[in-house]
Amino acid sequence: MRSLLQLAILFCLGVVLYGCQETGSSSLTAAPAQDPYSGSAERPEYVLVIHGGAGTILKENMTDERAAAITAAMNAAMDAGEAVLKAGGSSADAVEKTIWVLEDSPYFNSGRGAVFTNAGINELDASFMTGEDQMAGAVGGITNLKHPISAARAVMEKSEHVLLTGKGAEEFAAGQGLEVVDPSYFFTQERYDALQRALKGEKVEQEKIDVDKKHGTVGCVALDKNGNLAAGTSTGGMTNKRFNRLGDSPIIGAGTYANNATCAVSCTGWGEFFIRYAVAYDVHARMAYADATLKEAADAVIHNTLVEKGGTGGLIALDAQGNVAMPFNTPGMYRGYLKAGGEREIKFYEE
Ligand code: ASP
Repeated sequence: MRSLLQLAILFCLGVVLYGCQETGSSSLTAAPAQDPYSGSAERPEYVLVIHGGAGTILKENMTDERAAAITAAMNAAMDAGEAVLKAGGSSADAVEKTIWVLEDSPYFNSGRGAVFTNAGINELDASFMTGEDQMAGAVGGITNLKHPISAARAVMEKSEHVLLTGKGAEEFAAGQGLEVVDPSYFFTQERYDALQRALKGEKVEQEKIDVDKKHGTVGCVALDKNGNLAAGTSTGGMTNKRFNRLGDSPIIGAGTYANNATCAVSCTGWGEFFIRYAVAYDVHARMAYADATLKEAADAVIHNTLVEKGGTGGLIALDAQGNVAMPFNTPGMYRGYLKAGGEREIKFYEE
């Protein structure tokens, strides 16, 4: 009788254990297919991600010609960064070289192609950060430097400060040998016309206002062969911004952040919201303190925190394992990524 009871207990135990195994394996098979942006378990040799701004990018307003020109500029920027990373260069060099190409293109709101302030001038902001050591540099209100991103990097590497603005930043950068241009270099008719419409305060429908204020900041995050992350952001700000206004792009923790322990982030969107919600730092913090994955952290900030408050925009983020996230809550965001081995993608619209 006793042995019968023992047998029964053993049988029950066996059934329970078998059940557990089954549950375990079925939950594995039921796991969602791998997100294309959340890469393999193995860290790619290098990864580079870019954005060219988020906003009211609508298919119906886009010509094939314009789309091709923007794609070509983005590919050229990514090529420049990849050449650095492939050769074993640093993520910092890759970020700077990539952003140079975008700053030189009139299609983006940074460098040549920057939007105008209410005073009819271009004031440029940029920031730079390295994930290895949390070194950071930024410039704001620049009117005559061809590559604000290099000025931001110079502040990081050659000064004891993090953020320089206006004349002080320009003088410092010129003293470092960075290229100075006449402010008229930044003029583009399209951006000037957008300012005129905004100044007239035309009662245009909301859609039109959004197009005119169209975000178009550029940014880049990269992971190099040594496992170091870096991030950079460069912008003209927002059309018709009050002169001397600074947005999130030159603010470390708002527009840009990098930490090898978690991720590198570059943001684009309505700067005032990105500053108030410390967006770039919040992605890092959710990973560092709440154990969030890159995707969970980036999605929560863009789709929950910002949406709840009415903040529009997006970000690109890259973690130390080479996973990529590019969420946005606007109709579109110019964005692209590449990984060692040839994987490359450029997208404008839906996530
Ligand atoms: N974030 C930028 C700013 O507020 C604008 C943008 O990303 O388009 O200055």
